[in-house]
Amino acid sequence: MAMDEARAALKRYFGYDAFRPGQERLVCAVLEGRDALGVMPTGAGKSVCYQVPALVLPGITFVVSPLVSLMGDQVRALKEAGARPSFLNSTLTPAQQNTVLKRASEGWYQIMYVAPERLADPRFLAFAQQAAAPGGIGIPLVAVDEAHCVSQWGQDFRPSYLEIASFIEALPQRPVVAAFTATATERVRADIVSMLGLRAPESVVTGFDRANLFFGVEEMGDKAKARWICDYALSHAEESGIVYCATRKATDELALTLADALEPQGIAVARYHAGMSPAERTEAQAAFIEDRAPLIVATNAFGMGIDKPNVRYVIHHNVPESIEAYYQEAGRAGRDGDPASCHLLWNGSDFRLRRYFIERDQEDEHADEAAAERSRQNRYRLLAAMEGYCQTTGCLRAYILRYFGDNGALGVERTGSGAGTEGCGSCSNCTGSYEAEDVTEAARAAVRFVQACGGRFGKALVADALHGANTEKVRSCRLDGMPGYGSLSEMPVGAIKDVLGQLVGRGYLAQSQGQYPVLGLGERAVEVLAEDADAPFSFTVKRRARTGRAAERARRAVDMLRAEAGGATGRLGDDAELFERLREVRREISAERELPAYMVCTDKALRGMCRRRPQTRDELLEVPGIGEKKADEFGDAFLSAIAAFEDLRE
Ligand code: ADP
Ligand code: ZN
Repeated sequence: MAMDEARAALKRYFGYDAFRPGQERLVCAVLEGRDALGVMPTGAGKSVCYQVPALVLPGITFVVSPLVSLMGDQVRALKEAGARPSFLNSTLTPAQQNTVLKRASEGWYQIMYVAPERLADPRFLAFAQQAAAPGGIGIPLVAVDEAHCVSQWGQDFRPSYLEIASFIEALPQRPVVAAFTATATERVRADIVSMLGLRAPESVVTGFDRANLFFGVEEMGDKAKARWICDYALSHAEESGIVYCATRKATDELALTLADALEPQGIAVARYHAGMSPAERTEAQAAFIEDRAPLIVATNAFGMGIDKPNVRYVIHHNVPESIEAYYQEAGRAGRDGDPASCHLLWNGSDFRLRRYFIERDQEDEHADEAAAERSRQNRYRLLAAMEGYCQTTGCLRAYILRYFGDNGALGVERTGSGAGTEGCGSCSNCTGSYEAEDVTEAARAAVRFVQACGGRFGKALVADALHGANTEKVRSCRLDGMPGYGSLSEMPVGAIKDVLGQLVGRGYLAQSQGQYPVLGLGERAVEVLAEDADAPFSFTVKRRARTGRAAERARRAVDMLRAEAGGATGRLGDDAELFERLREVRREISAERELPAYMVCTDKALRGMCRRRPQTRDELLEVPGIGEKKADEFGDAFLSAIAAFEDLRE
C-alpha cells in the first residue's frame, strides 16, 4: 500500500516507472519505519531514496548534507518537479532564514536540506524538537547524505557530522534515520552505523561497477600530458569533459595551454579553482553546465554538486589523493548511463607532490599530535592504494571494485599477458593498450637485493646499484660490494625503477612512508624468496606503449562501447536531426526560465522522445524522465516541435 503510493510519487514527480532494486528495498524499509543504509555509486539514484519518502510521509524530512553549494540546485530541481522543498544554510540572510523557519513550522515544506553545523544551532534545535513533539508537524525521517563524512577513516571527515547522533537523540520522538554514501570501504561503513547510531539498518550496497565507464591509466611526462589532453579534447570536440589538476597553478597553466590550442577551433575552455573570485567561479560553472564551454579545467574544488548528466569524459592530469577521491571525481562522467571515459595520466612527480602535501598538512595540524599522526598514516595508506592502481597490470575496474570490497560484480580478472580477452573488456589494461613484458628474473634479483640491503635505501639508489652504476653515492653506501650489484646491467635504470615500483604496488616490496621512503620486503616477498616449485614466481610489467598509439586504442574501445549502447550516441539518420531540434527547444526554455538545460530535461529524455515520437501528453509521460510537472510546463513546446518535424518528413 505504502509502496504503491511511493511508486505513484516516483512517477508523478520524477517521471520514472519503477524503482531500481536497491532503491525499492531502501524506500520500503524507511516507509516501514526502519533505519536504512544505502551505499551506492554516484548516479545510482540515492536522492530518490529519501526524496520519495519525504514526499509521501506526513511531516518534514531533514536531509543533512555538507554540500551547501548544492542545496539551492536540489531545491530548485524539486520545485520544478512540483514538490515543496526548502533549505537552510549560511547562504541565506538572517531574514530569509526566519522566513524559512516560520513556513517550516507552519508545515509548508515536505523536505528541508540543512548543513550539519545547523543541527547545533539552538533555534533550529528548538524548532525540530517542537516539530517532533506530540501534536507537532512531525519529522518522519532524517536522511544523512555523504554519510562517509562521519568517519575518520575516510577522506572527507567532518567533525560536525559527529553531532548528528546527539541531535537525533535530543528529539522527543526518534525519526527514522537513513544514511547514504557513494564511497565507503568496509571500515567506513561500520563507522557510519556506529557513529550515526543506526538501529539494525536495512543495508543496500549496490555494485560499485559503473559499466558504462571506460577506465584508462597512462604514465607520461608533464609535457606529454598537456598534448594528450589537447588531442583528446580536439577529437571529442562536441562532448563535455572535465580535466582535474592537483593544484591551482597547474589548473591555470593547463587551462591557458588548452585555451591557446582549442579556442581557435571553436572549443571554449573554462577554469575553476578556489583561488578565483566567487563571481568568476559561478560564471565558469554556469558556462560548463549550459554547454557554452564544453571543457573545464579544475581542481577538486569543482564538482561537488555538479549533477550534469552528460559529462562524456573526465581526465585526471594528476594523481588524486585516494581511490575514493578518484572514483568520485571520475564518476562524474556518464551519469546519464551512456558510455563515457575516465583517464588518469600520471608520473612519479605526482606522487612526490602528494607526499609533500601530506607532510605539509601534518605540520599545520598542531592541535592534537596523536590525531595528526593518525591522519598522516591514513593518508599514506590511501595514497599507496592509488599507486597500486597506477601500476597494476590487471583489470583496472577489478582493482577499484576490490578496493571497495565489491567482489560480486566482476568475476573475472585478467593478469599478465597483453591482448587477452578476459577481464572487463573496457579498461586500458584489459584492452591491452600496453604490452606485457616478462620481467620475472629482474624482479627476483631486485627482491633478493633489497633483502640483502636490509631496507635502508631508496628506490633510485637500489636501481642504480642493480644496474651496476659506479657513483659516489653507491660507493659510499658500500652497495658495490653487495651480492647482486650490477646483476641487471643490461636493463636501463628507468626500467629497473619501474619494476621496483610495481613490486611495491603488488606487495612484494614495501616502501616506507615519509618524504624519503626506503625499500624493504613486502608481505608477499616470501613468494619470491621461497622458490616453491609448485607455484613458481612470475612477474610481468607494462612495457610502455607509444602514448599516441595507446590513446588511439583507448579511443577505439570507447567507440566500441558506444556502438554497443546502440541508439545511444550512435543516433542515426533523422533521429539525430530531431535530437538537435529538441535540444534547441530545450535551450530556449532553459534561457527563458534561467534553468540549466538538464533541469528542463535530460539528454536521455530527449532521446526517448526521438525514439517514441510522442504526439499527446499521455504519450509524452511514457518517456522516462518526464513527470507530470514537466509535461505541463514544457510538454507543449516539445510536442509541437516533434509534430512539426514529423510533418516536414512526410
Ligand atoms: P546519486 O545521488 O546516487 O548520484 P541521483 O539521485 O542524482 O544519483 O540519480 C542519478 C540519475 O538517475 C538521475 O538522473 C536520476 O533522475 C536517475 N534515476 C534515479 N532513480 C531512477 C529510477 N528509478 N529510474 C530511472 N532513473 C532514475
Ligand atoms: Zn578491465
